[in-house]
Amino acid sequence: MNRKFETNAIRTQLKRSDNLEHSVPMYVTSSFVFEDAEDMRASFAEEKERNVYSRYSNPNTSEFVEKVCQMEVAEAGFAFASGMAAVFSTLAALLDSGDHVLSARSIFGSTHSLFTNFFPKWNIDHTYFKIDDLDGIEALVTPKTKIIYAESPTNPGVDILDLEALGKIAKKHNLILVVDNCFASPYLQQPIKFGADLVIHSGTKLMDGQGRVLAGITVGKRELVDKVYRFSRITGPALSPFNAWVLSKSLETLAVRVDRHCDNALKLAEFLESNDKVNWVKYPFLKSHPQYTIAKKQMKAGGCVVAFEVKGGLEAGQKFFNSIKMLSLSANLGDSRSIVTHPASTTHSKLSVAERAETGISDGMVRVSVGLEHIDDIIADISQALG
Ligand SMILES: *Cc1c(COP(=O)(O)O)cnc(C)c1O
Repeated sequence: MNRKFETNAIRTQLKRSDNLEHSVPMYVTSSFVFEDAEDMRASFAEEKERNVYSRYSNPNTSEFVEKVCQMEVAEAGFAFASGMAAVFSTLAALLDSGDHVLSARSIFGSTHSLFTNFFPKWNIDHTYFKIDDLDGIEALVTPKTKIIYAESPTNPGVDILDLEALGKIAKKHNLILVVDNCFASPYLQQPIKFGADLVIHSGTKLMDGQGRVLAGITVGKRELVDKVYRFSRITGPALSPFNAWVLSKSLETLAVRVDRHCDNALKLAEFLESNDKVNWVKYPFLKSHPQYTIAKKQMKAGGCVVAFEVKGGLEAGQKFFNSIKMLSLSANLGDSRSIVTHPASTTHSKLSVAERAETGISDGMVRVSVGLEHIDDIIADISQALG
């Protein structure tokens, strides 16, 4: 039976034990027992699919992976202890010394640091492309290029990349398209439908949605996920069973939570657009967003993040942050609690001023992760902080 997204998110669960529990128990165990010598041999030879050791697999992590695979229409997946563990392990598993990655310029700060500061020591090269110049990408493909890497919406500028166009370019040049889908969540956008081969999430954000656990996941083509699995079962970035249990529970409410996040975010964006203390506002589902049409084509709603610039530069920006009363000054996003962040001094502080400028991050830029409080209270706090 072809059930809907919301139903799968709730009804995909581990087989009940002899206790006939309604909700799935926690399998807090590092290893599993063998029935006899032959079982032990066959299990280690991977002749049967079963749990052996929780660095390789665990019932709770398998349940989480299964749910996300259904949401992302993916064949297979592997869960990680953080989003960055997923990003690093996925790329490290697929890339060899001498390979080249074509990456969007606007990507998560730590991913940017990985390409710029760490991969070169394994002789893995990269070129950044501008997300509004997809025609220019093909000229950047070299015989060594293996992966195209991208995010949409981007962090923190909430720019939108045309995933279908990118999928076509990847296919034409026989490249692996890896999309970090964290800002959209699988409820709003499924990159595999547009040609992505692998999709990465930080489960820390909308998937958990309540700021309690760190997690990451990679899903996609079985053949590629198998490589990621081979690498990861040896290097050990596995998600803990407890965190996997929390996430499986969180995913049951993903659709209703994200619907409300998006409703609140759009209302806040509309309020900011009409406020004379604000230079500009960016939100994918505002008509004024430069890639509004693409956002409408590939996303169900605009997501939880709104970016804007306070008039008056750094000084006005600092005054704004110091005047906030209810919203949290924090670096997370996708939490039930609304959060305001200053990207230039936090998540993107490791980038040079020139790199920040190229990514569209100004000193007065504010990123709001719009939470689930009543929208009137969110707007009231931001309004009084703008003065
Ligand atoms: C947070 C984030 C990550 C990293 O995830 P962690 O769980 O913090 O390691 C990667 N990509 C994007 C887009 C993110 O927002």
